[in-house]
Amino acid sequence: MIYLDYAATTPTDSEILKTFCDVSTKFIANPNSLHRLGVEAMDIIDKSTEQVANLLGIKESEVIYTSGATESNNMAIIGICKKYCNRGKHIITTSFEHSSIYGPVGILQKEGFDVSFAKTDSNGLVDLDDLKKLITDETILVSVSAVNSEIGIKQNINDIGEIINKRCYFHVDMTQALGKINIDLSCVDLASFSAHKIYGIKGIGMLYKKEGISILPIISGGKSTTIFRSGTPATGLIVSFAKAMRLILEDFDKKVVNINNINKSVVSFLKDFDNVYINSNSFCIPNILNFSFTKMKPETLLHAFEKYDIFISTQTACSSSSTLSKSVLALTGNEKIASSSVRISFSHLTTENEISSFKKAFTEIYNRYKG
Ligand code: PMP
Repeated sequence: MIYLDYAATTPTDSEILKTFCDVSTKFIANPNSLHRLGVEAMDIIDKSTEQVANLLGIKESEVIYTSGATESNNMAIIGICKKYCNRGKHIITTSFEHSSIYGPVGILQKEGFDVSFAKTDSNGLVDLDDLKKLITDETILVSVSAVNSEIGIKQNINDIGEIINKRCYFHVDMTQALGKINIDLSCVDLASFSAHKIYGIKGIGMLYKKEGISILPIISGGKSTTIFRSGTPATGLIVSFAKAMRLILEDFDKKVVNINNINKSVVSFLKDFDNVYINSNSFCIPNILNFSFTKMKPETLLHAFEKYDIFISTQTACSSSSTLSKSVLALTGNEKIASSSVRISFSHLTTENEISSFKKAFTEIYNRYKG
């Protein structure tokens, strides 16, 4: 099996899974119980939160655990907009966001919020002059993903933060960024993360919320690890998430070099085929490579690869079943390219042999379909 869909999810690292099992077996109590077993469970959560905070350069009190980035994105967008709606009802985002951004933004739009999409340049980068013009006294939130999940476009988060200049709140979806690029939260108010994109377990993520900012909880009840998201703290998941974060950041530079080499090799291979267009550009992270073979529908290409036991993706796993990719359309303006795009995504685990098999399979599929 050759897995080239690491942007959709990563295989759980066995060490991380072992940590989850060990912690879940040893720390059985509700961390909010007053007895010694509860205190011990909360202690190990606190240690993990300290580790997460150190790795991200933030304070422990700024960590809110969630079930994943979808919840973090909903919590940030709905939480800020509902809390501060008396200050304004205007949200700015881009055409390169994940469905878990458009979902809550759409709900708020139905409730009377105005939504603007910042212009992007030919590389998909946010047009800073346009963003500056869009921000008014009514603007409450700007939400931009650090790395787009489908094409891999990496935004200049610090430049965007400088333009926003604290005139409104700034939320960044860091889901595809963690472990792939350097994370700098200095100009960001809220940031979303997910464990299963970094070889952690599905069902745990976090929202970074800068101290001093409040949000209206979307999940209410008793205190958990914070007052902003209720539910019994998931001790095993939290400890495993901290470990996933520590492990993904180990040997970071080495991993990046490896993935860069893989990306270059596949790009130089694909660019020689007629009717094949590489949609990812030099502003994209090397982990994600989006391309279109205009003679094939994306799902047909995906299933053709499947016959070789190679697994790739059409758009993102979370997008609708529509074959036209809105992100690729926004980038290329070309419907034919946008309706035939596929995504392959690499890992530091990807081997040269796997890439050779991918190339061999693509050549065979191409020769069958090129006519
Ligand atoms: N944002 C981005 C950019 C993503 O790629 C994903 C996962 N596809 C999400 C949010 C949602 O993450 P989760 O699966 O943890 O809810």
